[in-house]
Amino acid sequence: MNKAWFVVCPRWKSRDHVNKPHGWALPQKSLLTVENRYFDPLIKCIVCGYEFSLQQGLKEAFASDNPFVARPFQYNAEESGEVEITVGQLKIVKFSKPFENAPVVYLTPQFPVRAVPGYITNTHFSILSCDGGKGVKKGKISWVVYGNRDYDKVPLWRRLISNAKRHQLEKDYRAEIIELESAFEVFISDFLRNHLTSKLREGTINWLLRRSIEEVLRIGFIEIAGKPLSEIYPEAYREWKKRVKELRDSVVHRGAFVNREQAQRARKAVFELMTKIDPKIIDHFAFQVNKI
Ligand SMILES: [Zn+2]
Repeated sequence: MNKAWFVVCPRWKSRDHVNKPHGWALPQKSLLTVENRYFDPLIKCIVCGYEFSLQQGLKEAFASDNPFVARPFQYNAEESGEVEITVGQLKIVKFSKPFENAPVVYLTPQFPVRAVPGYITNTHFSILSCDGGKGVKKGKISWVVYGNRDYDKVPLWRRLISNAKRHQLEKDYRAEIIELESAFEVFISDFLRNHLTSKLREGTINWLLRRSIEEVLRIGFIEIAGKPLSEIYPEAYREWKKRVKELRDSVVHRGAFVNREQAQRARKAVFELMTKIDPKIIDHFAFQVNKI
């Protein structure tokens, strides 16, 4: 089973990209070049040649509204394959190993046929088919599924990001913003707890983590890095505060409406600040790919 990251070229809006792909799953070869240099421009766009870092490419993908780009952030495993079916007969496809829950299934028939997924479980799914009007009796269908595996190893903040993606795909941007900010706050609690355990008593850490998020980011980072977070990453901090924290507050307290652009900017801001604080979390945005 391979690990992959889905990246989108930061220049996807440029003329070079018209009618061409914006993003792609990074092949294993590029991953070897990147290693753990997540912020170095080591990826070359397959369309326009622009060079960007894994962190930048992932951030663009994270902000994207394309459902096929959002899915790998909602789920951590993708499996795909091709099966031959006989029209009118039930076909069962088994996964290589079980998912946590029933995954999302997409079918692409390679011949004129009407086909839909029937029942879907965490270990297999069925394909129902009927004549597409051309009288072809046999043919191939490509399928791809997205789901979660090893979910007990996924940290809570990352699960909240998955929830945010679900809201995004349902175009419920208000719920998405609330979930994004919760994910960020849970991530900060975990991060500070890990770094402060050797320095402070547990009671003191609990006292700190009960304060407002701005206070937590100020006092907590003074304790571990000598400066408040707003001085370590001033721009990323400002963006998060304006685009995510204050927007979330206005949704929660005043019922504010959130549009698509605001949601996209919030995604970028949250991703930027989190990955700056702890670049290692980029690993949690990879997904498993398996072709059977
Ligand atoms: Zn490009």
